Amino acid sequence: MEQTFVMIKPDGVERGLIGEIIVRFQRKGFRIVDAKLMKVSKETAERHYFELKEKPFFGELVNFITSGPIFAMVLEGRNAVQNARLLIGATNPAVATAGTIRGDFATDLASNVIHGSDSDENAAREIDLFFQRQRDF
Ligand code: ATP
Ligand code: MG
Repeated sequence: MEQTFVMIKPDGVERGLIGEIIVRFQRKGFRIVDAKLMKVSKETAERHYFELKEKPFFGELVNFITSGPIFAMVLEGRNAVQNARLLIGATNPAVATAGTIRGDFATDLASNVIHGSDSDENAAREIDLFFQRQRDF
């Protein structure tokens, strides 16, 4: 079974959406392998989003992710990376389909409630970054 990394961003935590979001993943059939509420350091945020470091919004993105607690999760399920991103919806909530997490709960590109890994390789890297190792229990 594949694993993916999902992070409820500071806006989602602040707005009290943790429970609602967990329910959606569990209903879909994902198993929660690990989860924690945590503050992200600047260094971890920069490593997490290293592929975007040349983008003009990189500084704003790092500031946002470090602005308050996030809720990090390792989720396990069939085709975990792709299925989690299907539930999450398009990057820009303005065009995300209703019924997806971003489509239902967000309107702003910068504060779009949730992150999900975009490849198996990045899932493994992000799980290692946030949880120190890949969980297997
Ligand atoms: P995430 O990695 O957070 O799950 P994503 O994979 O859908 O999102 P990425 O291209 O990885 O999209 O962008 C990471 C985050 O950077 C987005 O979730 C969004 O909040 C922010 N972002 C992306 N494009 C822009 C932009 N043009 N202006 C401001 N912020 C942006
Ligand atoms: Mg991404």
